[in-house]
Amino acid sequence: APQPANRPNWFRVPAVGALRPDSRFLRLRESLRARKLSTVCEEAQCPNIGECWNGEHATATIMLLGDTCTRGCRFCAVKTAARPGPPDPEEPMNVAAEVASWDIDYVVLTSVDRDDLPDGGAAHFARTVQYLKQLRPQSTRVSSDQDAQQMPPTKRPLFVECLVSDFAGNTDAVRCLATSGLDVYAHNLETVERLQQYVRDPRANYAQSLFVLRLAKEFNPQLVTKSSLMLGLGETPQEVLQAMRDLRDHQVDVVTFGQYLRPTPHHLSVVEWIHPDQFATYRKLGEEMGFLYVASGPLVRSSYRAGEYMMTRLVE
Ligand code: SF4
Ligand code: SF4
Repeated sequence: APQPANRPNWFRVPAVGALRPDSRFLRLRESLRARKLSTVCEEAQCPNIGECWNGEHATATIMLLGDTCTRGCRFCAVKTAARPGPPDPEEPMNVAAEVASWDIDYVVLTSVDRDDLPDGGAAHFARTVQYLKQLRPQSTRVSSDQDAQQMPPTKRPLFVECLVSDFAGNTDAVRCLATSGLDVYAHNLETVERLQQYVRDPRANYAQSLFVLRLAKEFNPQLVTKSSLMLGLGETPQEVLQAMRDLRDHQVDVVTFGQYLRPTPHHLSVVEWIHPDQFATYRKLGEEMGFLYVASGPLVRSSYRAGEYMMTRLVE
C-alpha cells in the first residue's frame, strides 16, 4: 500500500524547549552527560521525553546487552547480526549503580533480542534488577505516595520494569527474570494476530508472546504484566479488540497503543494514521475489559509516562 500523505496535524510533538532552568529534565540530562550514560529516551529522540522526565514520577528507559539485535523485524531500524558479541559481565553492576543514583522513580530496562545467548540474556537482566533493588529497595515504610515524595530523591523506592524479548519461549529464562524482584514484566505483542508474520521477525509469533506473558505471571503472581501494540499497520478494530481479549485471557494487566511510524524508507509503510478519537475508544474499551491501565494515543510508546501510571497503583 502507498504511504498515506503527510502526517496529520495531531502529530504535534510537545516541546521541551520552554523549560524552567530547575526542571528535572535539565538536571537529568546534565547528570547523564557527566556520566556518559545513554538512555533510549535521548538516543531515539523520543518525543515524550519532556513528559517522561519532568513528570512527578520521572521515567527513563535504558538499554542493556548492546546495540545489535539477532532478529530483523520489519518495523525496526536497529542494527542486526547473527553473533553480536558477548555481553559485558560488568554491565549489570555498573548500570545499577548509575541508575540508582538518578533522581527518577521508575526505570525501564530493555534490550535488543539476543538469540545467540543460551538464555536470551535473562540472567543478565535479572542480575541488574537484583543490584538495583539492593541499592534502591522498595521500602515498606513508604505507606503512601506522599511519603515517597518526601524522601530524598535517591532514597525513594525505584520501580523496575523490564521490557524483554520472548526468550524464544524458554521457560527457565522467563522464570529467572520473573522471580528476580522486578515490578513490571513487559513483552510486546507488536501487532494483531493476522499481521504477525508480515511485521515481526519469523522467530516471533502471537501465541509464543502470549505464552511468555502468562508464564511470567504464573511464576510470580505479584508481577504486573504489560504489552504494547503499534497501530496503523492495516489492522482492523475487530482485530485490535481480539488482541485485547487475548491479552486479558493471559492475565496481562496493562496494554499500550501508539501509532506506527516508519523509521526509514526500507521499512514497512504506514497504512493508516489512526485518529486520536480511535485511540481514545481503545482506551475506554480496554478499561472496560479490566486492564489496570491503558495508555493509548498517537505518540504513546511502551514506556510512555510509565512512572506516572504505575506509581499510583504500585504504592499502596
Ligand atoms: Fe523514554 Fe520511553 Fe518516555 Fe520515550 S516513552 S521518553 S523512551 S521512557
Ligand atoms: Fe528490533 Fe526488537 Fe525486532 Fe530486534 S527483536 S529487530 S530490537 S523489534
